[in-house]
Amino acid sequence: MLYYSTNKQAPLATLEKAVVKGLAEDKGLYMPERIKPLPKDFFDNIQDLTFQQIAYTVADAFFGEDVPADDLKRIVYDTLAFDCPVVPVTEKIYSLELFHGPTLAFKDVGARFMARLLQYFIKKEGNEGQTVNVLVATSGDTGSAVANGFLGVDGIHVYVLYPKGKVSAIQECQFTTLGQNITAIEVDGVFDDCQRLVKAAFMDQQLNQHMKLTSANSINVARFLPQAFYYFNAYAQMKRMGKADNLVVCVPSGNFGNICAGLFGKKMGLPIKRFIAANNANDIFFQFLQTGQYCPKPSVQTIANAMDVGDPSNFARVYELYGKSHQQICDDISGATYSDELIAQTIQQVYKQTGYLCDPHGACGFQALQEGLKEGEYGVFLETAHPAKFKQTVDKIINADIDIPEKLQAFMKGTKQSVDMTKEFEDFKTYLMQQ
Ligand SMILES: *Cc1c(COP(=O)(O)O)cnc(C)c1O
Repeated sequence: MLYYSTNKQAPLATLEKAVVKGLAEDKGLYMPERIKPLPKDFFDNIQDLTFQQIAYTVADAFFGEDVPADDLKRIVYDTLAFDCPVVPVTEKIYSLELFHGPTLAFKDVGARFMARLLQYFIKKEGNEGQTVNVLVATSGDTGSAVANGFLGVDGIHVYVLYPKGKVSAIQECQFTTLGQNITAIEVDGVFDDCQRLVKAAFMDQQLNQHMKLTSANSINVARFLPQAFYYFNAYAQMKRMGKADNLVVCVPSGNFGNICAGLFGKKMGLPIKRFIAANNANDIFFQFLQTGQYCPKPSVQTIANAMDVGDPSNFARVYELYGKSHQQICDDISGATYSDELIAQTIQQVYKQTGYLCDPHGACGFQALQEGLKEGEYGVFLETAHPAKFKQTVDKIINADIDIPEKLQAFMKGTKQSVDMTKEFEDFKTYLMQQ
């Protein structure tokens, strides 16, 4: 299968090129040339299949032409070493818990899949001697998912750049304590400085001759497409309960990679009636739905900070998927936007009334269903992270001292190792040239 750029000014790319390069030459996002519908009997019997079986069928439709069945199966099975259960919150609203992976957030799925797929391409090339270096700038969550997804993967070294003093202690320990093939670089600057250093490194000829560099951000097809797996599995779980008709899926959205994968699923025939994109105060997509105008603006800081995005990178994919038709987008997707006060109120009320503790992102998803579900519909919201990842915020809201899961505690016991770096590119380059 070939991949085209959403800007239509770049040559078609193979899967390998799309994964290794990330972004097309014209700065567009890669899209698969075709989206294969899955057969009716797959959906008829989906409730009898395991998560791995379901995911492999979906993966085969995307990647089966380019990766041999045995290899693809191994990549999929290895990615889904943890469960994504659907649990009831109210009679009509269910939570799809995507926080049972190593860093307790949904990005673990795509990061792990991408690591394994990249490893497959390195081996296939017979390039085992040459290390591929992944550079990733993070404001917190992406760095931990990528670092843990790539941890221990032969032939790949990951450099995580993060702003000194700007990420929470819980976030920091998830990528600074790993060792092995993961190096944390603590930049004396802000997130934008980290991103600038990474971009400058990709542009630097001398550096690129010295070492093979690649990126692992959410625009990569290998990171966003595998997120479709758990939408199919959520449907299967709802079907087992007899609640899959008129299913509404609500996705707390920032860069729109997660919801985009779900929309691909719908195009493949997954019987989801409609989607809701839940935003925090960063309401660019919500405004687009109302007006038909896409107007990016600087992001504002909120308590659901993984959705603090002012120019969602995957909007281009959503737009392309619907033939650039505002009407067709509105037919499938509605929106919602919530202030920090409303997010806090939701966390508190849901906890008091049901005992279920949402994280600030999932709370946007729950609230949008609470307000938007119609007669006869069931709703599933994506609980994108474990509430303990936002312990300070959540503790204050519900006035408690919530438990930290063992997985997170284990990170916190580790020893921090990081490389101090100024925000000057020359210093970063000198460092990399010595590696
Ligand atoms: C990344 C992230 C989101 C937003 O996902 P997008 O794919 O960028 O829309 C939501 N919640 C959490 C916890 C995240 O880490």
